[in-house]
Amino acid sequence: MSTALLSALRTVVGAANVMVEGDLSAYELDWRRRYRGKALAVVRPANPTEVAAVVKLCARHGAGLVPQGGNTGLVGGSVPDGSGTQVLLSLQRMNKVRAIDEANLTMTVEAGCILQAAQQAAAARGLLFPLSLAAEGSCTIGGNLATNAGGTQVLRYGNARELCLGLEVVNADGELWDGLVGLRKDNTGYDLRDLFIGSEGTLGIITAATLKLYPQPAARTTALASLETLPNAVALLQMAQARLGAGLTGFEVMNRFSLSLVRKHFPQLRQPLPEAEWTVLLEQSDTESEAHARALFEGLLESAMDAGLITDAAVAESIEQSRAMWHLRESIPLAQPEEGPNIKHDISLPVSCIPEFVAKTDAALHAAHPGTRSVNFGHLGDGNLHYNLQAPLGVDGAEFLRLHEPSVNTIVYDAVTAYGGSISAEHGVGALKRDELTHRKSPVALQMMRAIKRALDPQGLMNPGRVL
Ligand code: FAD
Repeated sequence: MSTALLSALRTVVGAANVMVEGDLSAYELDWRRRYRGKALAVVRPANPTEVAAVVKLCARHGAGLVPQGGNTGLVGGSVPDGSGTQVLLSLQRMNKVRAIDEANLTMTVEAGCILQAAQQAAAARGLLFPLSLAAEGSCTIGGNLATNAGGTQVLRYGNARELCLGLEVVNADGELWDGLVGLRKDNTGYDLRDLFIGSEGTLGIITAATLKLYPQPAARTTALASLETLPNAVALLQMAQARLGAGLTGFEVMNRFSLSLVRKHFPQLRQPLPEAEWTVLLEQSDTESEAHARALFEGLLESAMDAGLITDAAVAESIEQSRAMWHLRESIPLAQPEEGPNIKHDISLPVSCIPEFVAKTDAALHAAHPGTRSVNFGHLGDGNLHYNLQAPLGVDGAEFLRLHEPSVNTIVYDAVTAYGGSISAEHGVGALKRDELTHRKSPVALQMMRAIKRALDPQGLMNPGRVL
């Protein structure tokens, strides 16, 4: 059976694009190195027609399909299981920008287009595609939409979902749906686009998307501010929202320990402020001018200082300094594995509950797991925390995870549930949170999700075992 399937796949995409031998770890091992699978083959189609033919063949042979873009997902959704029976469908070769419509402020790109390439294509026309995240040099638009990625500018522009107007999708029957509309209004029944966004490859393969563009801001200002408490960070957020309105494009928070990890493992990165309990990175985009942006921003920081919300601040004087500030923030997840094993949670909560959640949950975790250290950082403006627990120094990674992860997750997710939060703010469910989802989502919601899955993928071949 598999020999017949492989030979038919070779006919469709060419033998060079059906990879079965050699080092396939770039496709079979996930970014966090927690999931290593074995694919029947890595198949790399060149266009939607080839994708449709591959899906039809897999359906005929009953082979599961795992779509993959940049393989930067953090929940084990983009790699095959260990059975050696699933086809890994890589969208890598489908990376073209098909069209940019400047008057309509839209851009149509193929699913395998790297996020950074899409940003650059928009910038070359003087426009902005605002989705931005640390993995933007290797993640793809298809993966961003399949996971409904968030990132650093959600506060102003929304998640990937809010940035997408239309999709082209190959469904589980191998039929190509052309939904590449560039319309901001279209109330013609069920929103199929929104069904596929965030479905993590479990309902169909996204092959292209029409995305929203924005005018480039005239100026961007970035600052770091030191704070003594987390409630002060929430008050600063409120003040910034009131003073800057839609101009506030980024509001990231970092606790002392998370920046101390960056100091320790990346000492070459200059930290402009002395250590503080909490540090906030704020960014403002202004449509008027650099001078207007600076005046507003400095006024805000002065008021925050007068109100006792911040104790120190540094405003970036150049694009390089602004990039360096973001680089500090983005280096936290890279410093964590350098320090040792850690348990990650990508959670969201009502912003107003975050200080109490962190105080109580930190205390509960440190009492139950002595020696662990809290790495708390994230997109506070969106109520999204990367709420991570670092193992005590020198412990064995696998042993630490085996002994502590279940109990740590229970403490964190029980608290998230109690405060009305979500166990996955932006990374999705994948394989990592699938079982947790069945305990945390309402039975009615799960029943409707399963009904949708059965209706669109009755053979259960689209990214099997993920999400549900
Ligand atoms: P992959 O990892 O290849 O796939 C992710 C999921 O989407 C899988 O389930 C896969 O099957 C599915 N999929 C991929 N392509 C398609 C397609 N064409 N059709 C259907 N399904 C598909 N996420 C955030 O939201 N915000 C962040 O700030 C953020 N920061 C990150 C920082 C780092 C350093 C890293 C490594 C990851 C970060 N992520 C973040 C995780 C984020 O989900 C991914 O980086 C990105 O959105 C996934 O894109 P990808 O192309 O790598 O997808």
